[in-house]
Parts: sequence; structure tokens; C-alpha cells
Amino acid sequence: MSDFHVLGYRLRLTGLLRLETALRVGSGLTDEISNTDIAVIKDDQRRPYIPGSSFKGALRAHIERLVRLVEPDAPGYGRGACNPVNRHEWCITSGQMDILRQNPETLDDQVYQFSCRVCRVFGSPWLASRVLVKDLLLAEPELWFERRYQVRHGVGIDRDSETASRGLLYDYETVPAGTEFRWEIIIENANREEVQDGLVIWGLHEFANGRVRLGGGRSRGLGWVTLIFDDQAEEVDAGDRTALLQYLQTGKGRPVGRDTVLARAATFAQVLARQGG
Ligand SMILES: [Zn+2]
Repeated sequence: MSDFHVLGYRLRLTGLLRLETALRVGSGLTDEISNTDIAVIKDDQRRPYIPGSSFKGALRAHIERLVRLVEPDAPGYGRGACNPVNRHEWCITSGQMDILRQNPETLDDQVYQFSCRVCRVFGSPWLASRVLVKDLLLAEPELWFERRYQVRHGVGIDRDSETASRGLLYDYETVPAGTEFRWEIIIENANREEVQDGLVIWGLHEFANGRVRLGGGRSRGLGWVTLIFDDQAEEVDAGDRTALLQYLQTGKGRPVGRDTVLARAATFAQVLARQGG
């Protein structure tokens, strides 16, 4: 849920996600994968794609881990990262929210104030997300039929004996190494003082460095990915009338070079180091 009615500042980032090793195909059932995992599922033509929500979840979880390293203390007031998976560890719990609701006129401000660094950007049950991740589709769908899924054999582990047990053999499919997907992320109305766009780019940059593995079956060496930024991103600043009119006429924003985009991540890292130290 994002507030796309009010256009202030929008940054659109695009690029490629390349599989360095095979990525496991899931059925899309949530109990199969943890929130840090990314699911590859099949579209109605049986081609693989990565749901945007899944990629966003993995990106968020990765950013949370990094932010907690620098700001480990109680998350809130624009710092740290709460645990969205456990409702008792939210930066604003349901109980606190009930109290804040008693003052409707200050509610929005208070919610923003109390929210942690990551919720302020990625959203929470009480706060809209500023990050929109589109589904990642095959970069070259016409080549898919030459690649195809690969079938692998898995061995179930007996939970009691922690050994491979008979009868727990199963097959699963993977998308082969070398497959590329297109990604597109839109950041809406980032607070530029807090370098909120930089936080997202900072997280993506870790993926770019190949430091992140995605998907189930990590113990089997699956899920290494590299993320590549396109040469240019695109921005629309509604405060800049000329740029806005051009955008409304052409649907295209102003190009922003990759170096400028990556510089935002560096700026964010500096802000974090200064405030977290
Ligand atoms: Zn939070």
C-alpha cells in the first residue's frame, strides 16, 4: 500500500538480476520459505518469475540485518530495525497504537516519529511503504525454452536423528545458472534528509556485490545472485515544474546516472555511521 496519489519525488531504478548458481523453484506457498528467502514461481506459461513482494521481503530483511549491526539498540525514532515477523517486537505494537489513536490529530506525526528506520521506508501495519517492487520477469523470455528447469534430488532430514532418513527423498526444480531477470523498483517520496532512497540503494548494492544468497536450498550452494544496475535511473521531482510537465507529456522522467545513484548509498552509509556511532 503506497500513497501514489500525491506525487512529490519519485526515483525509478532498473537493472538485471543474474543467477550465478541455480535458484530453487517454489510453489509460492509461504510455509516453504522464510521471509529472507526469495521464491521463484511459474507464470501461466510455466516460465519462471520472481514475485516483487518476495524480492522486496528479501531486500528488506537484508537491510534490517545490516542496520541492526550499526544501530543494535531499541528500534524506533527513525533508528534501528524492528522485527516485523514478531508482533511483540514491532517498533509500534498494537497496544501502543491504541494509545496513539486517542489523539487522531497527531496520529500521523506520532506514528512516523516512533517508527524505526526501516519501517519509515518499507512500511509497517501503520505506515505506507515508499518502495514498490515490480515482479521480476525473464530478461529474455524467448530464450527460456533452450534453458528449461533442471530437476534435482533432495534428501529429507529426520528431525530427531538429524540424519538423512529413508523415504524422505524428493525431487525439486531449479532455474539454471546464467538466467537473468529484469528488476524495477520505484521509491516514492523518500525523505531526502534521512537519505531514505539511499537506504534502499545501499541494500541493493549488497546484492550487486554478490554478497547475498537467495532462495531455499542454500546449503546446497544454490541461490547466488548478482544484481546489476542499469546505466541510468529515472527521477521525477514534482517540485521542478519543467521536469514535471515533461514527465506528464512523455511519461519519462529525468535520467540519473548510475554513479549518482550509487553515491546516494554512500551518503546513507555515512549518515548511518554518524548516527549509529
Ligand atoms: Zn519498525
